[in-house]
Amino acid sequence: MALRTSEHRPLEVAPAAARPRSDLRVYESTVPYEQSRIRAAAIYCSDGRVGEQFDDFLQQGLGLPRYDRVALPGGPACLAGHPQAHLEEQGVVDELHFLVEVHGLKRVVLIAHESCAFYSSRLDLKDRRLELVQRADLVRAAAVVRRVTGIDTVEGFFARLVNGRIRFEGVEV
Ligand SMILES: [Zn+2]
Repeated sequence: MALRTSEHRPLEVAPAAARPRSDLRVYESTVPYEQSRIRAAAIYCSDGRVGEQFDDFLQQGLGLPRYDRVALPGGPACLAGHPQAHLEEQGVVDELHFLVEVHGLKRVVLIAHESCAFYSSRLDLKDRRLELVQRADLVRAAAVVRRVTGIDTVEGFFARLVNGRIRFEGVEV
């Protein structure tokens, strides 16, 4: 429904589904539930601006529907040995152990993304150095994942913003 101003020009109204609401008590998703596990997990940044693109890449690009999500600020940065992320590192290592033991995890995907606020704010790194550190962190994080889980299949990707879209580039880890 379009509201009209006194000048009779349509006023933009966001679709109902896109508007935040706080009065909802019950909601049933129409997405069917699938019991089987895919035995893959992704560790990535919790930044909601790239969440749907991460889903698209993992589900459509890598063919991993229903992958387990380990999302936290900076994603794999917490496994790269930065003292500023020590608490998060212990939490993620514990979660990886759980996923291996209970979910039968066999494959881990690590994603770093351009303009990640964890790096600029928590680690105080600026643009030019930032991507180099993020790439080195993917290598370090992959080594930690292999060491603590015993899983060999660990992959790294850098998510780059290109003309308003997110492009996922493989990083040798
Ligand atoms: Zn981020």
